[in-house]
Amino acid sequence: MTTTTTTPRGATGSVALRDVTKVYGQGEHAVLALDGVSLDVAPGEFVCLVGASGCGKSTLLNLVAGLDRPSGGWIELGDVNPGLMFQEPALFPWLTVEANVDVPLKLRGLPRDERRARVAELLRTVHLADFGRRRPHQLSGGMRQRVALARTLALDTSVLLMDEPFGALDAMTRDILHDELERIWSERQLTVLFVTHNVREAARLADRIILLSSRPGRVIWSTRVDVPRPRRIDSPEVATIAAEVTDRLRTEVGRHGQ
Ligand code: ADP
Ligand code: MG
Repeated sequence: MTTTTTTPRGATGSVALRDVTKVYGQGEHAVLALDGVSLDVAPGEFVCLVGASGCGKSTLLNLVAGLDRPSGGWIELGDVNPGLMFQEPALFPWLTVEANVDVPLKLRGLPRDERRARVAELLRTVHLADFGRRRPHQLSGGMRQRVALARTLALDTSVLLMDEPFGALDAMTRDILHDELERIWSERQLTVLFVTHNVREAARLADRIILLSSRPGRVIWSTRVDVPRPRRIDSPEVATIAAEVTDRLRTEVGRHGQ
């Protein structure tokens, strides 16, 4: 929800990274988190970024989101206002569900009547039409993430950047939210860059899976997921892709002797 004066570059909905490097700290304490990462996400594509813990996934997403600057290389984003979602929904606890979703609309200066209609429509989209007057602590974890998703969609963004957004949810709730996200992505023709360490989740959701090496993060492998949608996380086709990604990941982690 940052306001920015940057103009979008590249095609609407596209994301491009070229030789992106990120170093944290300086001198002998410097940590090379990303080393020459290049990748392209096409408009409307759903890309999952997978890698071991600490390999630089969140770093990469934060750079794309503009929350931090790369140490080298460049990033082009075809949308001034990418939507961000993290593992924690980061709702305002003192505001109702409606008021939380209304925040970006207010910041965009939309008139009250239009905002009310948009909030109602967004809550219907995430199947929370009857929960607008509740406060976040009165909701389950899955419902809170739905509110966060509705608030993100209120930005009218074409690019969603998601950092393990369902990582704290139980398997059943996650399964339902996968279906919801897939539906919303396809209806709104969004571009999604989705970070996860869960290979099954990646195989369930992605058009393409990109594997990052352990620190420093580099793109080491990618694969298209040609399983028809809608998919089931427990289908044999998804399991086969997940097993292949796990094998690659294991080889990679083994190579680092961890
Ligand atoms: P992932 O999300 O894949 O688990 P991160 O992007 O969070 O990995 O971290 C990548 C590496 O960069 C890790 O070694 C981590 O300790 C380091 N790191 C992340 N953020 C910072 C920071 N603000 N300062 C110093 N090191 C950091
Ligand atoms: Mg992370």
